[in-house]
Amino acid sequence: MAANPYRQLPAVHEVLNWPEVQTLLNAHAAELVTEVVRQEIAELRQRIRRGETPDWDAERQRLPQRIRQRLQQADRPWLRPVINATGILLHTNLGRAPLAESAVQAVCQAARGYVNLEMDLESGERSSRQDVVRRWLTRLLPAESATAVNNNAAATVLVLRALAQGREVIVSRGELVEIGGSFRLPEIMQASGAVLREVGTTNITRLSDYAQAITPATALILRVHRSNFVMRGHTSQPSLEDLVKLAHERELWLVDDIGSGALADYSRWGFRGEPSPAESLRLGADLVLFSGDKLLGGPQAGLIAGRRELIQRIEKDPLMRAFRLDKMTLAALEATLRLYLDPAQALHEVPILRLLSQSLEQLRRRARRIAAKLRSLPLLRQVQVREDRVAVGGGSLPEQTLPTIVIAVKPQACTDAELAQRLRTSEPPLVPRIQDGCVLLDLRSVFPEQDALLVKSVTDACTIAKN
Ligand SMILES: *Cc1c(COP(=O)(O)O)cnc(C)c1O
Repeated sequence: MAANPYRQLPAVHEVLNWPEVQTLLNAHAAELVTEVVRQEIAELRQRIRRGETPDWDAERQRLPQRIRQRLQQADRPWLRPVINATGILLHTNLGRAPLAESAVQAVCQAARGYVNLEMDLESGERSSRQDVVRRWLTRLLPAESATAVNNNAAATVLVLRALAQGREVIVSRGELVEIGGSFRLPEIMQASGAVLREVGTTNITRLSDYAQAITPATALILRVHRSNFVMRGHTSQPSLEDLVKLAHERELWLVDDIGSGALADYSRWGFRGEPSPAESLRLGADLVLFSGDKLLGGPQAGLIAGRRELIQRIEKDPLMRAFRLDKMTLAALEATLRLYLDPAQALHEVPILRLLSQSLEQLRRRARRIAAKLRSLPLLRQVQVREDRVAVGGGSLPEQTLPTIVIAVKPQACTDAELAQRLRTSEPPLVPRIQDGCVLLDLRSVFPEQDALLVKSVTDACTIAKN
């Protein structure tokens, strides 16, 4: 009768006493080494449970090496640069917009040393850190003033709190959106202390619905862009001009949460219906709110632009202190905004605009070159270049897609999901798009200078034995 295989499993304290493992204890905390040893033994136990019969001599040889690898992984940074091969340019899970080179430089300089964050260099007096945002946004937009906080969710809470706490805010039922999982307008409203006054129905809200809801308790009318869905069929809503006119006749403010805040003209890539902050302000919105890291292509931030009087009230709110930006984000934001002074320069230097501008022909050429290199890999049985369409993502441009080129790869001896996992855990990590069970490497979101790294990552994933 075969010996009970579980009996062969070494005990944790035994492994810890092996000389190779003892040396590891010099460089790593004992608790961590113990934990890693425990994990390795648990994995061996799993294998026995699956019916495998480990070769104990070989395992004894291999175990210290695996423990060392696991320790190295435990010590390396959790945040790692990844190759985004999902095709989705604004992938919230992958940090949304990559920064322009000038923004990266500005972040590094601000991070490395001291900056005049809150000092006027001429007078030596204290100044506001918001001046930098104000300076550039008022040049780029028809706005008297502007300010910025951590993200658009914070901007919304702050604006509602500063201008409508304890009072009513009128919102169309068709605009009570949820964006990115945790931005739910009714909850944001509640957190701000303003009272939500819903009007209209899901598909139809008329100007008269707004007009009838106005009472002495009303503070403002809020319009929210349907960033991540569309309504089709029998729908209607008043124009921004009409809402502005109504609000101002009744001495109310009109706040426009436009979501993305594109400063470039996205119609050049065929996108429709994306609101522009300049347009919204020109049409009379008193405040416009938008994100820094969506179609603007900058750092995570919530930008607020419009009337000076309102911006002053917002900046005086105690929550402003809690939501304010740090020097690195402000540096990145300033550098990004400056690029938009010259639209041609923005097109050339803002990464997401650069990626959007790549022609299908350019993408196809790159894909063919990459595919030729991947075809020799043993783990892949199919490598196919084809045209596809992909969304921009990040809660923007709903239902609108962009043409793209993908390399569809099929694994030989493992499942598609396993291949995707190997890619994600290779060096550098590569995140593919899984579509209808296929693993797609979409070049739309891969920078041309990353092509060699992409090949390396797939090669790594397909050659290194993992268990
Ligand atoms: C994305 C979005 C938000 C939330 O913005 P964050 O910067 O992600 O906090 C709020 N409102 C609208 C309309 C949006 O599209």
